[in-house]
Amino acid sequence: MRQGVNSLSAFFSGQLAGKTSIWQQIDSERVLKVLVGNLDGMLFRCAIDADWTIHFVSAGCHELTGYTADELQRSQRISLEGLIHPDDRQAVRQSVMTAVEGSAPYRIEYRIVCRDGAHKWVMERGTCVIDEFGGRVLEGFIEDITERVAGQLRLAEAEMRFRSVFEKSVVGMFQTTSDGHYLAANQALADLYGYRTPRELIDEIADIAHRLYVDPARRAAFSGEIRRNGLVRDFESEVYRRDGSRIWISENAHAVLSPEGALLYYEGTVEDITQRRQHQAELEYQATHDPLTGLPNRNLLQDRLNQAMGGSRRSGRQVAVAFVDLDNFKIINDSLGHAVGDRLLQVVARRLSRSLREVDTVARYGGDEFVLILADQASVRDLAQTLERIQECIAEPVLLDGHDLRVGASIGVTVYPHDGKDFATLLSQADAAMYHAKAGGKGQFRFYTPELNSAAYERLEMEMALRSALAADELCVHYQPKVDATGLVSGFEALVRWQSPTLGSVSPVRFIPLAEETGLIIPISALVLRAACQQAAKWAAAGWPGLTMAVNLSAREYADQDLASKIRTVLAETGLPAACLQLELTETMLAGDVELTVRTLSDLKALGVRIAVDDFGTGYSSLAYLKRFPLDILKIDRSFVMECDRDADAMAIPRAVISLGQSLGLSIVAEGVERQGQFEILRCLGCEEFQGYLFSQALPADTVPAFLQDNAARVAAAARLTAGA
Ligand code: C2E
Ligand code: CA
Ligand code: CA
Repeated sequence: MRQGVNSLSAFFSGQLAGKTSIWQQIDSERVLKVLVGNLDGMLFRCAIDADWTIHFVSAGCHELTGYTADELQRSQRISLEGLIHPDDRQAVRQSVMTAVEGSAPYRIEYRIVCRDGAHKWVMERGTCVIDEFGGRVLEGFIEDITERVAGQLRLAEAEMRFRSVFEKSVVGMFQTTSDGHYLAANQALADLYGYRTPRELIDEIADIAHRLYVDPARRAAFSGEIRRNGLVRDFESEVYRRDGSRIWISENAHAVLSPEGALLYYEGTVEDITQRRQHQAELEYQATHDPLTGLPNRNLLQDRLNQAMGGSRRSGRQVAVAFVDLDNFKIINDSLGHAVGDRLLQVVARRLSRSLREVDTVARYGGDEFVLILADQASVRDLAQTLERIQECIAEPVLLDGHDLRVGASIGVTVYPHDGKDFATLLSQADAAMYHAKAGGKGQFRFYTPELNSAAYERLEMEMALRSALAADELCVHYQPKVDATGLVSGFEALVRWQSPTLGSVSPVRFIPLAEETGLIIPISALVLRAACQQAAKWAAAGWPGLTMAVNLSAREYADQDLASKIRTVLAETGLPAACLQLELTETMLAGDVELTVRTLSDLKALGVRIAVDDFGTGYSSLAYLKRFPLDILKIDRSFVMECDRDADAMAIPRAVISLGQSLGLSIVAEGVERQGQFEILRCLGCEEFQGYLFSQALPADTVPAFLQDNAARVAAAARLTAGA
């Protein structure tokens, strides 16, 4: 035992080499004993004989084999050879002897049979040494590796299992790189995409985005979703098979990352969902189409109308809903039978579809009723023409089973958003209009709005035209000069003009109130304000600085909380000094909440612009209220100017207005001055500015510079004449 320990100290020489000095001072024998005694596994020395007769074994042998050291030493109970699993004995001997002959250390793994019959996997490391008596013995260490081996076995088994899942799966599986080619694919995927082998698929699809997906953007969507969520679920796309045919697939995939978090590849499964998609599409089609005519049914109609209404809100164009009911269908159906009736409905359905545009919808509403959605309607005239065409088309004779059949149609029409704002309302209105059409004699169409044939028709016509006018640039601004007491131009009033291709030249007196009602005044006003400020700034730069520009404010704009800031923006963007801009508002706009009015006017005045009261004298009778508001200018209404040069009574009002205005510190403008006599009287009464046909009508912007030049020359000549006289 003692000798064994001494000799075994060599085994530790590695671990203790650096501690030689301490090693010499301490009781090395005791330390070794403790270490050896507490080792997991067993140190041994044995003879190189048939039994591997053990000379020494450490206490760890009990834990490992179930035998004590005494039972093992000198083979008292069992030899080392006896411990080795019978199946492994030959291999162990062969490995050990090869090492001994080559004087090399060895390392082998094999099984032992423990005292209780259990098998353990061990690893033995050993070497041949010369003992104290000059003979050759084996010294080494045996440790338990059962768990490690079991783990390895499990791993190998799992890998086998997974490989077979991958290869034999009926689900397509893949690994692909982020730049779009395949790393691996299984047979199921190859089958799915029409390739003979996974290899063929991997080689031929070098660019997944373009070779696989029908829509190449799907690959980017796929990568994007994985980037955001780490995975994609039920990602449905249409893909090309190898022969160019298309199928629908659903992918489930995730990113495989390196321990540092870098993307290594994508991995996932693919399922063919073509049949499901087809099935879905069929169901959808059945749920939304009429089986007899193939036209959209009520469900789809509602959808389409909602879409059309949404489009209308964006474009400002109107949508017409027409309810079409066949005249005399019932008689034909009853007398010739349902089969003929059905075929007649099919013919009518085809004719209706043919007579409409792509963007329109024809739906079968039920029985012999159809509903048309006519989007993007710009004018009532066009709409009426379309309806007439449809009626003619339906009225064409139909030859069925030798019968020469004729059906007419009564049509009721309603217009979104003019008449109603939702599906149910519009449909019931169109239906009601259709009954009117029938009652008025068959084969006609009627608008829902009862008076559509007269004033309301015109109004609707104008509303439609005005909506497109804005988009089509049909509106422009003309400028009417104002002159001072010498006749010299002091400024302009901006007046909007509309030249409509369908309605001709339309007066603002007609379309401004309509624009107010429909809200179109907001974009119109914005257009006028910007154009006017731009022009005034341009003329100032061209040598006429200080000319004022008056713009009419509508009630809607005046109520707009943001008015002041909108005007400030336009002034800043056009570069017109605020002092040059005048805002004209009417008396009625000043009536109402005094405090609010004062606040609004003060906000505007704070910009530096001036405020004029237009058409003064026609609205509010009390003049006293004027005192309370921060105003700058009074424009005496044309009606008072008209007669002022005819008799003394008619002069009373302008005189009163002028003196009142003067007492309030306001400057006075007379509008509608048509005769020299009016001009002279008003000038005598103290009026400072004059506007009217006597001087000029409202002028297109491009004729203004010439007018200004001519005006300046004339006034200078008149002054010279006066000076000379
Ligand atoms: P208003 O503000 O009182 O404009 C003066 C109207 O009188 C203009 O008619 C002008 O052409 C006309 N007029 C000028 N001098 C004479 C004259 O000597 N004799 C006669 N008989 N008429 C004269 P217009 O351009 O037809 O405008 C009518 C109204 O429409 C304007 O009345 C104004 O209330 C409104 N309007 C015009 N342009 C705009 C605009 O851009 N915005 C707003 N909100 N309203 C506008
Ligand atoms: Ca005005
Ligand atoms: Ca006026």
